[in-house]
Amino acid sequence: MLGYIRRRNKRSPHMPELPEVETTRRGIAPHAIGRRVSALTVYDPRLRWPVPRDLPSHIRGRRIDDIERRSKYLLLRFGPDRMLVHLGMTGSLRVWHAPVPAPVKHDHADLVLDGGIVIRYHDPRRFGAMLWLPATAGVHPLLASLGPEPFDDAFDADYLRQALRSRTAAVKVALMDNAVVVGVGNIYASEALFRAGIRPTTSARRLSRPRLARLVGAVRTVLSEAIAKGGSTLRDYVDPTGQPGYFQLTYFVYGRESEPCRVCGAAIRMRRLGGRASYYCPSCQT
Ligand SMILES: [Zn+2]
Repeated sequence: MLGYIRRRNKRSPHMPELPEVETTRRGIAPHAIGRRVSALTVYDPRLRWPVPRDLPSHIRGRRIDDIERRSKYLLLRFGPDRMLVHLGMTGSLRVWHAPVPAPVKHDHADLVLDGGIVIRYHDPRRFGAMLWLPATAGVHPLLASLGPEPFDDAFDADYLRQALRSRTAAVKVALMDNAVVVGVGNIYASEALFRAGIRPTTSARRLSRPRLARLVGAVRTVLSEAIAKGGSTLRDYVDPTGQPGYFQLTYFVYGRESEPCRVCGAAIRMRRLGGRASYYCPSCQT
């Protein structure tokens, strides 16, 4: 099974990052909030962790009070209890109104709601998760050591200075650490550092306060732009058009090695940092 999961596609799929997860939340929320669960039908429980056998019985007959997002986790709230959904690398949620088509390969589960609405979870590479988080169990380990959300007031230059003070790592590696700030993946870390004019290899602890303030702003800007762009795909979450719209911004640096910088024309460079491809403009970023 592991071999299957790890088998690489020739083209790496566009992994859902925070904007895609937030867009998914906004896409499904109007169809789900306030409705009761008629059933959770699991076709294939094999995800990153198996879908718990008793998950359907925990949510059957209960009302979805809200759908929240923490980092890249979607949290369906049932009173004090929550169901966690993570999209992994290739997961997607799709809303269907009756008549609902038969499940196809890689459809893992249907969340059947009153009114005949179905929210279907699809995940070819099975790195996603569906878990039950009862209030009585306290904070789930997946949510325990997460840093602030990028849009929280707590995420500011002073916080970042404190969080990075003892870090010798490159700023890009630190920015992608969920303990520093959640939801800044490889693409948006590269793009935010470009907008802030900071080279990704810069030692995290050496950044001045003004540069940290610029970085905080740049992280918010790239994520907001991506979420706004995702907003135009919201109708794709509902049948019958295509796959859920995982969208792309026009990137300044990400994936553009050797291409000319859109600002100054210099050739974009790539370096591996913490095992991840990191793109930057040698002229705009210092
Ligand atoms: Zn440039």
